[in-house]
Amino acid sequence: MKIDQFPEHIRPYLVPRAGGEYAYECFSCGREHGIERLLYTCPDCGSVLMIKDLEWSRLKRIPGSLWREIFDYRSMLTLPALRGIYRYHELIGSVIPPESVVWLGEGYTPVVAANAVLCDWAGCAFFFKNDGQNPSASFKDRGMASAFSYLNYLIGHRGMEDVLAICASTGDTSASAALYGSYFVHGVKSAVLLPHGKVTPQQLGQPLGSGARVIEIPGVFDDCMKVVEYLSEHYSVALMNSKNAWRILGQESYSYEIAQAFDYEIGDLAVFVPIGNAGNITAVLQGFLKLHDLGIIPALPAVFGVQSEHANPVYLYYLEPEREKRRFRPVTVRPSVAQAAMIGNPVSMPRVVKLVEEYRLRAGEDAVRVVEVSEQEIMDAMLTANRNGHIVCTQGGECLAGCRKAVASGMQAAGRRAVLDATAHALKFSVFQDKYFSDSFEPEYEVVPKAELRNAPVLVSPPDGVPKPVPGREMPPEDFRRFLAFASGAVAELLGLKRKQ
Ligand SMILES: *Cc1c(COP(=O)(O)O)cnc(C)c1O
Ligand SMILES: [Zn+2]
Repeated sequence: MKIDQFPEHIRPYLVPRAGGEYAYECFSCGREHGIERLLYTCPDCGSVLMIKDLEWSRLKRIPGSLWREIFDYRSMLTLPALRGIYRYHELIGSVIPPESVVWLGEGYTPVVAANAVLCDWAGCAFFFKNDGQNPSASFKDRGMASAFSYLNYLIGHRGMEDVLAICASTGDTSASAALYGSYFVHGVKSAVLLPHGKVTPQQLGQPLGSGARVIEIPGVFDDCMKVVEYLSEHYSVALMNSKNAWRILGQESYSYEIAQAFDYEIGDLAVFVPIGNAGNITAVLQGFLKLHDLGIIPALPAVFGVQSEHANPVYLYYLEPEREKRRFRPVTVRPSVAQAAMIGNPVSMPRVVKLVEEYRLRAGEDAVRVVEVSEQEIMDAMLTANRNGHIVCTQGGECLAGCRKAVASGMQAAGRRAVLDATAHALKFSVFQDKYFSDSFEPEYEVVPKAELRNAPVLVSPPDGVPKPVPGREMPPEDFRRFLAFASGAVAELLGLKRKQ
């Protein structure tokens, strides 16, 4: 729709202008640092940073009801820069002018209702928000869009040049960083570090296809992360992991989209998110807090983090009910089908601790919970979801398993609706479905396939004497008729088809 067709009172707010004053904020020592250079840790105390809008109170001058209208009307604009996460420009980095925004189709992912069978299985009515429908097929694109838009702004307006964008990854961060990096005509190259043998073939193929330098490191993600942290401290590189606070800003859009999808009435929702490096749950909590602070949502939804028993440091931390007694201890991870979340020492833990505290202060102790699920539960949940019309990955399965557990244990009231984060597309993690169907899980995974969830192709193979078609060779019509009679008969028998009268 053209600008002059919008209601008059909305027009001045439709296309945002660059503005605002931002700083890196350290959650540990409280100090602030300028954003004119890329910082990943606090120069004073070494802790992770968040990005703070120093003029946040100016946004409060606009009432919540008007913000809701602005965001809703903006979704009718055809301006590419505002088609994705920057529809919420004022909330996620208004210093970036719209012309610096890099939009590759991320954001605005569908919220799909589960059918009656699946809701029954979970114990409550729920929806999957399909972040696997982002361009690199995971939610990481939300954060990459903002981190790369900021780089683009630094290149275009601050004279930054020859950027080497680098990241460690459990697979999806590198796929996303390589995709966004490859879009730049000049100024940006990308390199990704992966734990050797610990990403799926699809995830390895993605950065290779985008033309990034792909480097494999022995060990697990946590080891790769240490290497890129060292590199980012000692060399001139742009770190694209969620340690980079610009990533968090973009990922907050996930919360904004949920609010918008439910007409901003989300006080009765429970939102389930898998936890790996804990960047996503940081962004989700921060996103809802910002909406609440501006009066855009009248009440906060409950947020559940979900972890596998094989990579559960955040779960263990919150097992201790008394805040003062909690001690964070990294864990040594074991092989997990939720491989994208197989992280024992989440970089964002200090952010999580701070935000959970604030969230609970505003919405009550029960407003944030962490649940733990088994590898078996993750696989069974993923397969059950996908047999009911979804396309969720193992981490999406992890969310469903977590939701089911939360209902069964009474943490999630059966009457409350849930939104589950389907963080990536099923196809990225099809190796785990293959292992399940062929009963070939290594014992460490502790997954035993259930017969009713397995599936395999059936080959119709003509016996000797019945001719078979061979690609590239023409078949005599009589031979083909014999093959057709045999194959159709075999399929009809397999499917138990009834003859037409
Ligand atoms: C990265 C990732 C996660 C974990 O998110 P964190 O921000 O690291 O906690 C979960 N699922 C998928 C598919 C991912 O790519
Ligand atoms: Zn600090």
